[in-house]
Amino acid sequence: MIIVMKAHYTPQQLEGVVNAVKAHGLTPHITYGVETAIVAAVGEFHIASLDPFEVMDGVDSVKRISQPFKLGSRQVHPENSVFPIDGFTIGGDEIAIIAGPCSVESKSQILETAHAVREAGANALRGGVFKPRTSPYAFQGLGEEGLEYLAEAREQTGMPIVVEIMSQTQLELMLKYVDVFQVGARNMQNFNLLRALGETRKTILLKRGLSATIEELLMSAEYILAGGNKQVILCERGIRTFETATRNTTDINAIPVLKNLTHLPVILDPSHSTGHADYVAAIARAGIAAGADGLIVEVHPEPTKAVSDGKQSLKPERFAEMVKQVKAIAEIMGRRVAPVKKPVTTGW
Ligand code: PEP
Ligand code: MN
Repeated sequence: MIIVMKAHYTPQQLEGVVNAVKAHGLTPHITYGVETAIVAAVGEFHIASLDPFEVMDGVDSVKRISQPFKLGSRQVHPENSVFPIDGFTIGGDEIAIIAGPCSVESKSQILETAHAVREAGANALRGGVFKPRTSPYAFQGLGEEGLEYLAEAREQTGMPIVVEIMSQTQLELMLKYVDVFQVGARNMQNFNLLRALGETRKTILLKRGLSATIEELLMSAEYILAGGNKQVILCERGIRTFETATRNTTDINAIPVLKNLTHLPVILDPSHSTGHADYVAAIARAGIAAGADGLIVEVHPEPTKAVSDGKQSLKPERFAEMVKQVKAIAEIMGRRVAPVKKPVTTGW
């Protein structure tokens, strides 16, 4: 249920509404507008009539939230959510570019990649240290050693780091290092993990599951939002279809559909959605043209030697070319790629 307060409502009237919501066993989430405020009452809903809320002092209108996802819906929060990530914003006019290798492999590999992607125009560095691999015998990631290398890359380049978390058991360790937690496609419905991340106040990059519907993605985001963490970025990363010419099928539709349904920022991963370096730039351009708020792209200094996802990884020169094209598309869309940070050290 959404309770919209009248313009010039008083703090006491808002408090009265909040208390009434709590008295029904529901949790109030307040969104403040310029003159008004919206109280979203979420939880197990058994209220037969909205009348008692409609007649409360300071209340303008009361509606049921028609979507199964509540806090993520535009009904609750009509404006885009825009939030800062160390040096840039996401969800507003700026387009954010996150780039880096699939896996952190060595100190020199991540440092070289970090400097190269920053110079090419990236705003944040990605790199996996706990890898969800199909085979238990494939490289599983460097763990804490990889986090230390990423922290050094952040120190040298000033870029925040985006790292995948696979289990809540990794949370305590990762909290010390990570700026943005990535939840991978395979963990989109790891509800214990989502709840644990909802308790943090770190930005979460939530990827769509391999066979998940848009509604299921939004329901997963809801687990994080319900914990009070409002900084959730959604990521389209391709879905499984009957097509085998590409690793996955980029659901470009998902971008405008999500932007319509939710206020949360939406980004595209053209690397996993195509699975091939030759298609990444084209799909990155398409994503920005479709209204994505950013991109997450795999880049490796020597893709043929990458321990994971080499086939879909761009060399830094190709990534730089992609960024130029994306900047041009962004401009047509009345937006701009977020400016890169100045390097913190020049010692590299
Ligand atoms: C990744 O980003 O390297 C990754 C494993 O992505 P996804 O979860 O989308 O497959
Ligand atoms: Mn990968």
